[in-house]
Amino acid sequence: MKRILITGGAGFVGSHLCERLLKEGNEVICMDNYFTGSKKNIEHLMDHHYFELVRHDVTQPYMIEVDEIYNMACPASPVHYQYNPIKTIKTSVMGAINMLGLAKRVKAKILQASTSEVYGDPAVHPQPESYWGNVNPIGLRSCYDEGKRCAETLFMDYHLQNEVAIKIIRIFNTYGPNMNPNDGRVVSNFIVQALKGEDITMFGDGSQTRSFQYVDDLVEGTIRMMNSRDGFTGPVNIGNPVEFTMMELASKVIELTNSSSKIINMPLPQDDPLQRKPVIDLAKKELSGWEPKIHLEEGLIKTISYFDNLLKAEQ
Ligand code: NAD
Ligand code: UDP
Repeated sequence: MKRILITGGAGFVGSHLCERLLKEGNEVICMDNYFTGSKKNIEHLMDHHYFELVRHDVTQPYMIEVDEIYNMACPASPVHYQYNPIKTIKTSVMGAINMLGLAKRVKAKILQASTSEVYGDPAVHPQPESYWGNVNPIGLRSCYDEGKRCAETLFMDYHLQNEVAIKIIRIFNTYGPNMNPNDGRVVSNFIVQALKGEDITMFGDGSQTRSFQYVDDLVEGTIRMMNSRDGFTGPVNIGNPVEFTMMELASKVIELTNSSSKIINMPLPQDDPLQRKPVIDLAKKELSGWEPKIHLEEGLIKTISYFDNLLKAEQ
């Protein structure tokens, strides 16, 4: 049995990770400040003998004896990470320093949830890990993109200078149950709008692309990365390489929810990447043939059912 710390464990991805690692027989400590996460996401785990919940901000040092750390704490939706940009960059940078310091002291293995946003608005398509990216350092998205880039640097430097065992994953757009209905990201927005019969808010003309991964595929890839061979640090892309335009996504959501919602166009936010699609050859090679298994339609059906139940319970 391993003792595992998950920062941001009450968030969308973190809550799935807590559940899966508990199921595998580990002791899990979930740390969160509840900025975007919720106790609701993990309340079904509260009675579990090997589950512990800690309210703590990752920008402050934290002392605990653990074998592994999954550093997931950071708001991920543009609406939330732009709400308090200074706090966002502190969460990425000071959070990384605090968790790496902890990993160094207790000799824990530590995994960083990095992001496809390190590629910015990519001039290379699709994106391999060797691409250095095209990021605006002073734009609205910079607090997130540059914070995550600096965190990657810190992880590498702690590895090279202090021999900390690190793993870096670059997560591409992920969706699924436990997303906050007010999260602001495109999949949850479109589904909630379609279920409520409200207008679907299309930013720009909807020709921009993203590659959407269902959360179970991400969790599988993340755990395989933590357990990958010694010395393999990444960064490694974890995403679904099937690319869709936002217009295709909206049509799919309308079809699957049988909704009467209309699509309305709104201005494209500043620095919104035009395209995004991962190259996943490295993940396949290093993570025992890992690849996404859940197609968009199948994942959307599960996610729609989650939001449908949530909205009915709120009525
Ligand atoms: P989320 O917003 O649902 O979860 C983030 C969690 O971190 C929340 O529970 C939040 O309360 C917590 N948190 C935020 N700031 C904190 C702080 N200072 N101290 C302690 N806890 C804090 O987002 P998510 O989609 O679950 O993302 C999880 C991680 O994966 C993030 O690091 C994100 O950058 C990364 N990621 C996610 C995606 C995606 O598509 N979901 C894509 C790329 C990267
Ligand atoms: N988007 C949209 N309507 C929304 C929310 C987002 O058209 O209500 C667009 C957004 O402009 C972007 C894409 O959907 O082009 C994905 O946005 P999201 O915030 O989910 O993720 P990110 O831009 O960080 O990849």
